[in-house]
Amino acid sequence: MMVSGSTRTIGLIGNPVEHTLSPVIHNGISDAMGIASVYVPFKVDSDGIGEAVKGAYELNILGLNVTVPHKNAVMASLVSIDEDALHIGAVNTLVRDEDKHGYVGYNTDMPGLLRQIKEDGISLKDRTVVVLGAGGASKAVVYMCLKEGADKIYLLNRTIDKAKKIADDMNEIAALGIVKDSKDTDASASKVEHVEKRDIVIPRSIKDYNKITENNLIVFQATSIGLSPNVDEVVIDDSEFYKKIDTGIDLIYNPAETKFMKLVKANGGKAYNALKMLLYQGVIAYELWHNVKVPDDIIADIYVELKRQVYPKDNIVLIGFMGSGKSTVGKALAKSLNMDFLDTDEYIEEKAGMTISDIFEKKGEEEFRRIETETLCELKESLANTIISTGGGMPLRSENARLLKETGKVFYLSASAGIIYDRVKDDTKRPLLMVDDPYGKICSMMKERKPLYEKACDYVIDTNSNDIDEIIEKIQIKVVEK
Ligand code: NAP
Repeated sequence: MMVSGSTRTIGLIGNPVEHTLSPVIHNGISDAMGIASVYVPFKVDSDGIGEAVKGAYELNILGLNVTVPHKNAVMASLVSIDEDALHIGAVNTLVRDEDKHGYVGYNTDMPGLLRQIKEDGISLKDRTVVVLGAGGASKAVVYMCLKEGADKIYLLNRTIDKAKKIADDMNEIAALGIVKDSKDTDASASKVEHVEKRDIVIPRSIKDYNKITENNLIVFQATSIGLSPNVDEVVIDDSEFYKKIDTGIDLIYNPAETKFMKLVKANGGKAYNALKMLLYQGVIAYELWHNVKVPDDIIADIYVELKRQVYPKDNIVLIGFMGSGKSTVGKALAKSLNMDFLDTDEYIEEKAGMTISDIFEKKGEEEFRRIETETLCELKESLANTIISTGGGMPLRSENARLLKETGKVFYLSASAGIIYDRVKDDTKRPLLMVDDPYGKICSMMKERKPLYEKACDYVIDTNSNDIDEIIEKIQIKVVEK
């Protein structure tokens, strides 16, 4: 992004801030939407928070995210605070207010999580919910459950006093009818219940949680247990507890599948991590700052970029027109880098038990594209250290283009229409070229596909030279590049 005199600054204050993923979200949206704002992390010590907020306003900073340890302390430095953030007791987004000459505080974590679960078809209305943990995130989760009309909320934490404090605060809010809609619901429906002493210690015995008699539970895992690298840890590991769970949401997103999620699934429940919560809290903040609606396709692209950062893959994906050299280059590259090689067309043919031409002829192109998507979903999970040569039409569907990026670094092998024609003119196995004017067909198809290949790739590699060694060297240079 080019910075000009009118570029606005947005950013993050916290300590530490070095590992934040928020620049991926915000700078990604600005780039995609052509909005002139740049997101920068600022490390701020606890005793400097008031001055930092004041200084940010004077520096004309449009908006800020706030992370640990300032989400609570920052509230004293704001000109006003949104009602939900006030009830949760934490602000993670500051929105500039010229009239009030300062920042208004919001909490976008809670609506971020709510947007994620709604997207997954999860409703909290009249449900029994268990929240594991009683830290900052837990309070936002309990508040969300209250607002969304959960029937009963069990709050379980190692330190019982912290769970009691959240429960008391939330019951007070519910009793006062402060939360919209809570006045009209049955008193018990708005209450946060805490079962006597909760001592979440690993390993814990069943008697610590067997007071929960309900089944069909929704459980939010809001402790820090299970976070990478301690991926084998979980606060409760008794399958009797997991048998009661219908849906488990782990607020941890690294690893992608936590031990908690594995246990929920192993006992028949559905399980989700909360990477989308991170995505959506950012999107909601961005929309507040810029007064825009971020389109769904841009959000989907940003989500892929987040996944690539959090769950990096070491595969190399080659895309491009037929005859661009994906198979030849791919095999030579695999040999040179000591990696495996897979051709998606060959893989599909083997699985379907028929050739690509037959699939086109008997089932149609649309069905073939669907098979490609299904294949990519499978391969992105199963492949590692592999060079993947793809069918020429694979990245044409935006869904496939995103899956390819999740699978590895994507290289577009480009060549002119004339070179492509020379390479494929004698090949009788290309169903799309069985026409009177194959060169004309190549030209028109390339015109349509080139921008899609460029959008789907990380790097463009010119292959017009036909020099395999030179092409491989160009790719290798990019592979080691950060
Ligand atoms: P926090 O305020 O530090 O709370 C940590 C919680 O974990 C407390 O309930 C704590 O219990 C519990 N805990 C820690 N060590 C434990 C142990 N050895 N045994 C049992 N319980 C233990 O953290 P937070 O801000 O609420 O965040 C909680 C988790 O949510 C973190 O993993 C964070 O990464 C994740 N999170 C994700 C998102 C997202 O966007 N997806 C957003 C926010 C948070 P005690 O009270 O007894 O210490």
